[in-house]
Amino acid sequence: MRMNRWVMGLFSTGLLLVGCGGGQGADGALPQDDGKEDSATGASGEGLGKSAFHYMRAISEKFGQRICGSAAEADAASYVQEQFEKMGYKPEKQRFEFHDGEKKHSANIFAVKNPSARQQIIIGAHYDSVDTGLGLDDNASGVAVMLELAGQLSRFALSFKLVFVAFGCEEAELPETKKIQFYLGSAHFVKRMSEQEIDNTLVMINLDSMAIGDKMYVYSSQEDKAWFRDKSLELGKTLGIPLETNPGLNADYPYGLAGDWGDHMSFKEKGIQTASYEATNWDIGKRDGYTETERDGEIMHTERDNLDYLETNYPGRIQLRLSAFVAVILETLKAVPTGN
Ligand SMILES: [Zn+2]
Repeated sequence: MRMNRWVMGLFSTGLLLVGCGGGQGADGALPQDDGKEDSATGASGEGLGKSAFHYMRAISEKFGQRICGSAAEADAASYVQEQFEKMGYKPEKQRFEFHDGEKKHSANIFAVKNPSARQQIIIGAHYDSVDTGLGLDDNASGVAVMLELAGQLSRFALSFKLVFVAFGCEEAELPETKKIQFYLGSAHFVKRMSEQEIDNTLVMINLDSMAIGDKMYVYSSQEDKAWFRDKSLELGKTLGIPLETNPGLNADYPYGLAGDWGDHMSFKEKGIQTASYEATNWDIGKRDGYTETERDGEIMHTERDNLDYLETNYPGRIQLRLSAFVAVILETLKAVPTGN
């Protein structure tokens, strides 16, 4: 049995899994990479990334395609709301309307930890999907990591506020409006933030398509606002987690930065630092970050984006990705300077 480099790193540094207030994963159990995931029940104490796997499977398989404005999307929103409630949060539903031939609506669901703190970090992931596949990688995986982080951090003492948010309608394009609108949920969320809240946002962490790509990445949106990305890369090394950034092989996508493809854009437009996490492969295809795997090319927005296919063809990979992302993001959050 080969033990993963980063798993060994976690054990040897002893950094991880302490101080989470007895939350999930506090027993230090970590998944191995030698077998098919078979026991992710989401129960506490099973190891980092186990509850994320459970949430991811539930969102993808219970609700299927979660098209912007659909009943399935609304059901998935209720599911996210219930998970926050089970963790002891008082989640809020932020409804928004849009026109797509007819009037439709969707909602962002958010929960706040440490609401009285002045400075905040926003951790977001979209829960809608396209109408192909089951939206497992894109983006039940990101919502799942966000939910596990909310659970892990629910009793952890932090000096800043944390806002966990599931965005609706990231995938929507509304061609009937003159200007095509993207990222409806996150755009609405940002529109509702006060100038003061915008100024007091240390970083927005965007979680999108984290389950299956060949490699793990973190990017910023602007090179001069990238301390969270850089801290994460540094801690990835310490933990033995192979986290990389965009290598800059394509002139349209400069080194270290994310492209214009997701909810981080809504925050970038307000000058907020962003840190986007995803699994893909920048060394292949057009070297634009869209070709996620050597074996299959793209997974997102294809029929392959479902648990059966991905677990059969990449046994164990999803759990490793979720566990590693949860671990490195948790450590990076804990390294944010106090006194804010
Ligand atoms: Zn996505």
